[in-house]
Amino acid sequence: VAPLTTRAILLRTHPYGETSLVLRFFTRELGTVGVMAKGVRSRGSKRGTGLETFASGDLILYVKETRDLQTFKDFTNVRQRRGIPRHLLKFAGASVVGELVYRHGGESASPALFDALESVLDRLEAAEEDAVVSTVLAAGWWLVANLGYHPVLDTCVRCGSELEDDTMGRFDFSAGGVRGPCCSGTPDGTGAVAGPRVGPGARAQLAMLVEGAPGPVTRPRAHAQLLSDFVTYHVSGTKPLESFRFLLGLLPADSASEGG
Ligand SMILES: [Zn+2]
Repeated sequence: VAPLTTRAILLRTHPYGETSLVLRFFTRELGTVGVMAKGVRSRGSKRGTGLETFASGDLILYVKETRDLQTFKDFTNVRQRRGIPRHLLKFAGASVVGELVYRHGGESASPALFDALESVLDRLEAAEEDAVVSTVLAAGWWLVANLGYHPVLDTCVRCGSELEDDTMGRFDFSAGGVRGPCCSGTPDGTGAVAGPRVGPGARAQLAMLVEGAPGPVTRPRAHAQLLSDFVTYHVSGTKPLESFRFLLGLLPADSASEGG
């Protein structure tokens, strides 16, 4: 079998036995790939393995269609992104986007999604300290929109009527957007009548985040919870992504005075 080379982002690393690693990559040519790297921890013990989470590089591997785990040959870092693993909140944010892509990416080539993930990770690594949370939220929403789940924010997601700039709405997860007072009494797909309230300020901030712009966000924790619930409904299925629980655990409670 001839080895194959592809540009890849390392998303997760699990130790296996004494010296081996199971690596989860998102690749430009093959989508998501699991790779068994035998003996790599002893081999790399002096100068490190070079296998840093969220690094981009050239992965060389042996692929056999029938195997769950492919065989690792080599990984050469192109962008290491050391700033992410060294910063807990950036790491949590990168874990969210990584898990999103891993769950959604599938096992086929998706260069556009690959490039989107690269750009999101670069923005996260470069984020200024006071903009980390909003960058994480912008990265998450922008990626979700790129995956094809753009939330409806300008018009009532139920009936399509225009939402005024000062309208208080509610988020309707099953419909995928904000509903206005016009439809406040209609149960959603889950039978629930009311999702979380989304005020005019929060709605404007959401519109900005979905475009990938990390502007100021008044209630970061409520925003993160909303994104998590949206992803649970549309991407991951019944349970929230593990990485969202990690992220939410790092965010302090929103201050009560800052209404949205
Ligand atoms: Zn309506």
